[in-house]
Amino acid sequence: MTGLDETHDPSLVSWVESANRDDSDFPIQNLPLGVFRRAGTDEPWRGGVAIGDQILDLAAVRRLRAIRGAAAEPLRAASSASLNTFMAMGPHAWSALRRALSRALRAGAPAVTRLAEALVPQRDAEMAVPATIGDFTDFYTSIHHATAVGRLFRPDNPLLPNYKWLPIAYHGRASSVGVSGQRFPRPKGQILPPGGNTPVYGPCKRLDYELELGAFVGVGNALGSTVPMTAAEGHLFGLVLLNDWSARDIQAWEYQPLGPFLAKSFATTISPWIVSMAALAPYRVAWTRPDGDPQPLPHLDSPANRTHGAIDIALEVWIETERMRRESSGPALLSRSNFRDSYWTWAQMLAHHTSNGCNLMPGDLFGSGTQSGPKPDEGGALIELSHGGKQPVTLANGETRTFVEDGDTITFRAACTAPDRARIGFGACAGTVLPAT
Ligand code: CA
Repeated sequence: MTGLDETHDPSLVSWVESANRDDSDFPIQNLPLGVFRRAGTDEPWRGGVAIGDQILDLAAVRRLRAIRGAAAEPLRAASSASLNTFMAMGPHAWSALRRALSRALRAGAPAVTRLAEALVPQRDAEMAVPATIGDFTDFYTSIHHATAVGRLFRPDNPLLPNYKWLPIAYHGRASSVGVSGQRFPRPKGQILPPGGNTPVYGPCKRLDYELELGAFVGVGNALGSTVPMTAAEGHLFGLVLLNDWSARDIQAWEYQPLGPFLAKSFATTISPWIVSMAALAPYRVAWTRPDGDPQPLPHLDSPANRTHGAIDIALEVWIETERMRRESSGPALLSRSNFRDSYWTWAQMLAHHTSNGCNLMPGDLFGSGTQSGPKPDEGGALIELSHGGKQPVTLANGETRTFVEDGDTITFRAACTAPDRARIGFGACAGTVLPAT
């Protein structure tokens, strides 16, 4: 464990009572940032902090002059309609604001009466994509997913030779990244019918989700410079849940030889609250390589990465079909996995991304790639759970799915938990598929 301070003390409680419940995603030890306004209004978008079932409105905190000193400038940047400026300020400013917010929200804090005016219930708010995303890069860091999907296409040779040497990725599309609650029509595209040799243009028939984490870049790097492993963590701002919606039939036809394109660029959904790397510090775990696998080259290796480069984050996928909604039966669990099983760490992804001199910008978004666990029921996408669409998944109410159907809402949830530590949750990342237009 590293970087623990007073803000991680598991005994801290907040004067916002809902933050103190055992099952809250947003206790005082979390303090994730997002951008919000009251739903149904034309109020300006501004930064906020999730605390229990409330949002602390950072623009209101500024007006109330409840936070001063070293955190005042970071507060100003974090209260704006996009977090890019705050992201660019770096770890010193991030921790100054975190410390000030932790002190202001603690039970017994001196400014409680004034700050209570700055709370907005989360149920009354609408959320925005929290930063202007210049570039979106999607990695492929789960060896279990890469092997399972590779086996569908290449039974004899599922894992390509580069996989164990570098965190492979492609450049995604930033303009279609939306926040939880995103609703989008089923994409259309070129599809090669089974057994045919002429493609047709029409609605995707094999629409899938991909269970991923996203990472926002905080501090960028100059074009031509590289970020070494020892500095990589200082460039990472925080994590969200990310659904890399994928049209498998469009993908199968278009992907060779340049990789995914229109099969991915129609929608990507992220959760609205960015959980800071600081909040995740108590859940860092060792990163290891299985016996017999190659060790990383020196530019992708560091002692700190080995001792605590990985993060223990439990992930879940839920589905709510139209029938479940109609019958109010609640969503059904599709799968669970854990980010600690990732073959590569965020530091390795960032160091690799800049290893050729590529410049990253504040607000750039990385996707981790589908996070599947080692067991067959831990697949992070339907293409795995349904064995390429050949074995339908049976849901609790008897419905079956091979791929996502119109009206389905797919929701990701994630949390870090341990007996002697505060629960650090991510909230929800939900998206709904509408009929093709
Ligand atoms: Ca992906």
